[in-house]
Amino acid sequence: MKIIKLHDLYFTPFISKDKITTIVKSLAKQVKADLPKDEVPLFIGILNGCFLFAADFIREFEGDCEVSFVKLASYQGTTSTEKVKHLVGINEDLTGRTVIILEDIIDTGTTLQEIYNIFRDKNLKQLKIATLFFKPDVFKKELHIDYIGQSIEDKFIVGYGLDYNNLGRNYPSIYQLTTPPKMKNIVLFGPPGAGKGTQATLLKEKYNLVHISTGDVFRYNIKNKTELGLLAKTFMDDGNLVPDEVTINMLKAEVDRNEGANGFIFDGFPRTNSQAKALDEFLAEKGEQINGMVALEVPEDLLVERLLERGKTSGRTDDTDEGKIRNRFNEYNTKTAVLKDYYAQQNKYFGVNGVGSIEDITERLANVFDQL
Ligand code: AMP
Repeated sequence: MKIIKLHDLYFTPFISKDKITTIVKSLAKQVKADLPKDEVPLFIGILNGCFLFAADFIREFEGDCEVSFVKLASYQGTTSTEKVKHLVGINEDLTGRTVIILEDIIDTGTTLQEIYNIFRDKNLKQLKIATLFFKPDVFKKELHIDYIGQSIEDKFIVGYGLDYNNLGRNYPSIYQLTTPPKMKNIVLFGPPGAGKGTQATLLKEKYNLVHISTGDVFRYNIKNKTELGLLAKTFMDDGNLVPDEVTINMLKAEVDRNEGANGFIFDGFPRTNSQAKALDEFLAEKGEQINGMVALEVPEDLLVERLLERGKTSGRTDDTDEGKIRNRFNEYNTKTAVLKDYYAQQNKYFGVNGVGSIEDITERLANVFDQL
């Protein structure tokens, strides 16, 4: 999960879809347990926010029930200052019924109090309130809330039916308002030998960004015979990817080491779908995001030539053996190349022609960096 933008505001992941499912299940169980056997309750959802919650709640409710929705509308009364509130949607006789109001979120409780008052005059047998979220710090009413899914702090939330100026209702999980991202974070992408390292070194100066090359960090650790180095060596020597868990933890530690950075150029990371997801989640926790993936596009035969040439001086064993080089391409084509789609789906993929002089390519990349 990553940061989302709705209109002018940014929101960071807050409560996952799975967690919501657990809360809704538990609410449905509690409500059922408190009802007399054979009682058929009427659930009344308060539109618009509760439509997803109500839909999931009644599916979790075991036993017969009825469901209806209402909306509180206000219209001008007879005098110009008078505002009259009334409910739209309930016409039937509710005498003797057990009514349970379903709310997505209760904050000050003002609207809920008005709705409650209207139902109180309808000769019900019982009137209860179940809410998915509750903000105890701002709730001002005496009203008793019978069922609370989860209490949350007083911050604006969206998703799972809740909106910000009508957007955001369709997200399956809950997001919380956050400050706008401050960093410029770029994934510099491309197959082995595309020139990522060379270009990152130039671009980090120009944009005052921290360059993290996972390959370089691994090589540094191998050279210094650290535990991480010993672990990574066997994979790297054969041109295989180092396992995700190891790589992701290392990357996080590198980012955390550079607190206060303007942003990062990620070079050689992410290389798998789960690395890309982990990166999004990790940045979202900080209220940050990937601005774009900038990819160097170079034909494969030219890449092999470049790598063999580099192998003459780089001292890298994975650059000298054509079999190992082929295996790195195989890893790239089967696990890494798909990331183009991952970022393209978010409109964050920018392809750049990686054939030409170093200066020309830097300029092409800079043109994209400037827009991000
Ligand atoms: P590079 O210097 O980017 O070509 O990386 C050299 C080698 O380091 C790769 O062939 C992998 O064995 C390992 N490596 C670097 N980055 C990653 C990553 N993100 N995931 C897994 N392995 C990696």
